[in-house]
Amino acid sequence: EHVLVTGATGYIGAHIVDILLRRGLRVRGTARSQHKVDEMLRARPQYAERLDFVLVKDLTEPGGFDDAVKGVDAIIHTASPVTLSEDLDREKDLILPAIRGTEAVLLAAKSEPRVQRLIYTSSFAALINASLLANPPAGLTFTAADWNPITYEEGLTGPAISAYRVGKKEAELRAWHCVREEKPQFDLVTICPPLVFGPVVHPVARTAELNHSVTDLWRIACGAYPYPPIRTVIWADVRDVAVAHVEALLRPEVSNMRFTLASPEGFTNQLIADIMREEFDWAKQAVVEGTPGAPVPEWPRADGWTASEKLGFTYHTLRECIVDSIRQFKEIEQRE
Ligand code: NDP
Repeated sequence: EHVLVTGATGYIGAHIVDILLRRGLRVRGTARSQHKVDEMLRARPQYAERLDFVLVKDLTEPGGFDDAVKGVDAIIHTASPVTLSEDLDREKDLILPAIRGTEAVLLAAKSEPRVQRLIYTSSFAALINASLLANPPAGLTFTAADWNPITYEEGLTGPAISAYRVGKKEAELRAWHCVREEKPQFDLVTICPPLVFGPVVHPVARTAELNHSVTDLWRIACGAYPYPPIRTVIWADVRDVAVAHVEALLRPEVSNMRFTLASPEGFTNQLIADIMREEFDWAKQAVVEGTPGAPVPEWPRADGWTASEKLGFTYHTLRECIVDSIRQFKEIEQRE
C-alpha cells in the first residue's frame, strides 16, 4: 500500500510517516520546503526506496494535490497552519489554508480511483465549546459527538485561537459533507487530538524551531514562571496520536468514524515542572519549584477510551512523555 501524508515535515505528520515506514508501507509526503524534505530523507537512509516527497507550497491553491495523489491508496491529511500569533490575518493565514487545503485534498482524492480511505487530522478545536469552559458543569466530558458551536464571524473577529478553531471545524465539516453527500469511492476517519506533547522526529535544528504545542514545555524547562497559562488539562502523546492515525487507516471496521484522543491523566504546568525537577538534575536549579504536588483542578475531561479500544493502543504516561521530550529538547539545545 502507498500512503500520501500531507504535512509530512510537521510534528505529527513526521511521526505518522515513521510508523507507516516501520510497518512496511510506502509513503509519499507533501512538504512546502525542499530543505526540510532533504533533512527528512537524510535522517531515514534505510527507507530511501519507500519514501518520497512532493512539494505543495500553497495549501490554498486549487489542484495543489493533484500530482501528489497519483497512485496512492490512502491519504492522511495533517497539513494546516498551527500558530496562534495575534498579528496574523485571521482569514488569510489561519481559516482559509485549513479549509482550502482540505478541499484541495478532497478534490485530489476524488480524482484518484485508487484512494480507499482519507484520514483527516482534526482537533479538539473542532469540538470544544469554549463558552462551557469558564464554568464547566460537573462531569462534563467531551466526546466525538460534540461540535464547536463557534461561528465563522467569531473566527474573523476573535483572538487567533478562534480563527484556528473555525478553520479546523469548517475543514472537518467539508470532509464529512463530501463523503456523505457525494459518496466518493473513499471513506473517511477523523481524529481529534487535544494538546499534543512528546519528542520530535521532524527536522528541528534549534529549540526556537520547536512546534507550537511543545513550546510551553520547553519554556518551563527554561525557568518560565509563573508557568505559561494553560487552557486545558487534556493532552495526548504525539506517538499515540500518530499510532491512532495509522490504525485508523488500517482497520476496515472504523470506516466513517470520528475519534477524540485524550490521555487518562490530566496535566497542569505544575505537574510538568514537578516531573522535570524529579527526573533531571539540571532541572532542580533551572525549573521553578512553584507548589509541588498541587492537584489537577476539576476540569472537563474527554473520551480517550473509545479510540484506545477501537484503534488498539495504550496511552503513554505524562511522566514518559515529559522525560522523553525534555531529554531530547535538551540535546537539541546542546547542539545549537
Ligand atoms: P506543525 O506546525 O508541526 O505541522 C503543520 C504541518 O502543516 C507542517 O508540515 C507545515 O509545513 C504544514 N503547513 C502549515 N501551514 C501551512 C501552509 N499555510 N501551507 C502549507 N503547509 C502548511 O503542527 P502539528 O504537527 O502539531 O499539526 C499537524 C496537524 O495536527 C494540524 O492539522 C493541526 O491542526 C493538528 N493538531 C495539532 C495539535 C497539537 O497540539 N500539535 C492538536 C490537535 C490537532 P512545514 O513542515 O513546512 O512547517
